[in-house]
Parts: sequence; C-alpha cells; structure tokens
Amino acid sequence: MLDRVRAFADAEITPRSDYFDSLPEAPTVATARLHEAGLANWWIPSRYGGIGADLEESVDIVSELAYGDAGFAFGSFLSILGTTMLRLCGEEPLARTHLEALAAGGGSCGILASEEQAGSELGRIAARFTHDGDQVVISGDKYFATNADAADLLLAVARDADDDADFRVVLVPRDTPGVEIVKRWDMVGMRGSATYQARLRDCAVPAAHVLRGNGLRNLEIGLNASRILIAATAIGLARRVRDLSMEYAAVKQVKGSALTGNAVFAGKLGQIEMLIDVMRNQCRAAAAEFDRYMAAPDPLPSLYRTGTLRSALAAKMYCGQAGWQVATIGSEMFGGLGYTHDHPIGKLVRDLRYVGLVEGGDDVVRDLLYSRFVVPAGKRR
Ligand SMILES: Cc1cc2nc3c(=O)[nH]c(=O)nc-3n(C[C@H](O)[C@H](O)[C@H](O)COP(=O)(O)OP(=O)(O)OC[C@H]3O[C@@H](n4cnc5c(N)ncnc54)[C@H](O)[C@@H]3O)c2cc1C
Repeated sequence: MLDRVRAFADAEITPRSDYFDSLPEAPTVATARLHEAGLANWWIPSRYGGIGADLEESVDIVSELAYGDAGFAFGSFLSILGTTMLRLCGEEPLARTHLEALAAGGGSCGILASEEQAGSELGRIAARFTHDGDQVVISGDKYFATNADAADLLLAVARDADDDADFRVVLVPRDTPGVEIVKRWDMVGMRGSATYQARLRDCAVPAAHVLRGNGLRNLEIGLNASRILIAATAIGLARRVRDLSMEYAAVKQVKGSALTGNAVFAGKLGQIEMLIDVMRNQCRAAAAEFDRYMAAPDPLPSLYRTGTLRSALAAKMYCGQAGWQVATIGSEMFGGLGYTHDHPIGKLVRDLRYVGLVEGGDDVVRDLLYSRFVVPAGKRR
C-alpha cells in the first residue's frame, strides 16, 4: 500500500508543485487519479468496501502524500474526521449508505463546525436545528469548511433550538436545498486544498441524520484521527525540506568544496533528521493508541469517555513546532533564492504553518492539555 502511495505521489503530485500552489479547481485531476488508483479514502473499513488501513499506517501514507503536496494530502485525508464520527455515532443504515458510497466513489465528507465567532470555542456555535415531524431543519453560517463544495456529504455541528446546551452533529447531503457556498478562501498556504465559507439555510434532512450523542464530544473523538494526520503532514514536508537541502548542497560550493562536506550544514541536517524521527514516532504512537480504541468490539463508550487523546494533541503541537524549526532551517538554506517564488522552499514554509493553526492553534492545544490532563490529578502520569 505504502509503495503504491509513494509511486502515486512521485508520478502525480511531487512534480506539480506550482499547479497545487495555484489554488487549482477542486477536486483536482489528482483527486480523481487517487481514486482510479484505488487509494482514495484508504481508511474506510473493508466491511464498507474500503481498504481499511489503520491510523498508524495512515501516518506514513499522509507523510508520502504531503511530501508531494501537503494541501493535496490534507484534502485527501480530512474526510476521516467525518467518517470516524459517522462510523461510531451514526445509526448503522446511515453509516453504511454513506461509507459505502465514499469507498466506491472516492468522494469526500466536509465538516461544518467552526463559525466566525466560534472557531476554537465551539461551545459558542450559533447554528441551530429545529425538529419538524420526522425531519430536522438546520440553519447557520460556517466560516471554514474544507472540501465542502465538492463533498458528497457535510457533517454540521449545531445546537437544538429548543435546548441551548444540546449540540448535535447532523448529516446534510451536499445536494440538500439550502446548502450554499459563500466563497472559497484564498489561503496563504495549503493551496492544493479547497476551503470554503458555507451557509445552511433551512436545510431539511431526516431526523435519522442526527448522530447519537453530544455533538461536541463526537467532534473531539473524530478530531483525534484528523489531528494526528495533520501532524503527519509535517513529517512529509520536513522530509521534502531535507531532500531539497541535500540536492542543493551537492552542487553549492562554499570555501572551495561542496556544502555537503561542511560541518555546519551537517549539523543542520542532523538536527532535521532527529526532528523528523521524533515527529514520526509521536504520530505513530498516537495513531497506535487511537487504533487500540478502534479495535474494541464497540469503541464508542471508551472513546466517548476519553474524548481528546493527549497523544493526539501532543503530536499536532509537537509536529507544528518541530516542522516550523525545519522550515526555518530550510528557509535559510537556499540563500536569496530561498526567498523567491522560483524555489519551492517558500511554499513548504507557508504549507507548514497550517499544522500549528488548524484544528486548534498551539494556545488552544496547550489549554486543552492543561485543563484535561494536568488539572485533574488522576489523569497525571
Ligand atoms: C486551511 C484551513 C482549513 C480549515 N478547515 C476547516 C473545516 O474543514 N471545518 C471546520 O469546521 N473548520 C475548519 N477550519 C477552522 C480551523 O480548524 C480553526 O478552528 C479555526 O481557524 C480557529 O478558530 P478562529 O479562527 O476563531 O481562531 P481562534 O482559535 O479562536 O484563535 C484566535 C486567537 O485567540 C487565541 N485563543 C483561542 N483560544 C485560546 C485559548 N483557549 N487560550 C489562549 N488563547 C486562545 C489564539 O491563540 C489566537 O490568538 C480550517 C481553517 C483553516 C485555516
């Protein structure tokens, strides 16, 4: 599987940096090719017709895709957040219908959670749903939603209009009347992915489309998987910086010899290699922990109790910071050329920045680690 992904990235993604950085129309041709290659949505379990790769394998898959283009990787794996919630918290007929369609068609699932006034503080979400016979009707403005335009289905987080404290995740098929794309964001980096501002205007869906359990808790459970894979994009990006540095240093002369033989350069590359190895180990360990939960006959009760995994938070924050160190070394490596659009390092720096921002910036992650794992004395290890 990993060899196939690597071959796919080498052929379809890595040579096309400029194309992915151009905010290409989504889904890209490469998205269709990933599906043709039988690799799209690789984590969907085999009982739904998918390949069924676990999250630990997915760390390496994402690292390979992100080596080619981090935006493409992000757009390709982000559906795991929704499919995890659907698989664990959706009624089986609903989950089966949509997971089978995603496995067979290679489509995507958008997440409509954050709002302009409720980015990290999701408890301030203003989107609401009302009950109307055997339907629910949902309305609200959502600020950032990756893949939302081309998605087959959207999972929207909203509160019950009759009970302010009751948050739910509601499955809204993309073609439901009332789903509007307001605009596509012109992002600084990750331009190979497509993120939108979206609006739900009186979207009526069957009541069975409301997932079981507290919507914010469901989201936390799914975010474990996507946060670990966001962290894994930093591994691929850092590997690319390392390899570009080696190519450059082989031909760059400093004090009469190639830069590869220079002790300062060797020290920088040794530092990068250490960071890559620790990033990879933390992502794999966090993913293995998540996989252990998912391997239970009924994973939901224990994941529902646990919510956010400490290891997933640590992976995302560590990889954001370590990746940024690598980006900084890389940015200096290529001299003046490194500060131009003629060299790919600038794109890698811009792409890397997202790891420490999306699905919780470092302040948010630190706050979560403190409140969930330091304040409760019983959680300290
Ligand atoms: C490329 C991209 C793709 C995205 N895709 C999606 C998507 O598919 N679906 C979706 O729902 N959302 C998506 N988002 C939203 C993203 O995941 C974040 O939730 C959102 O950007 C953060 O919210 P915010 O902008 O309100 O900023 P905030 O997180 O509120 O941060 C603003 C400021 O407040 C500070 N702050 C916030 N909380 C704390 C705290 N607890 N302690 C101290 N300081 C704090 C921060 O440090 C920062 O300075 C995406 C964003 C990007 C950039």
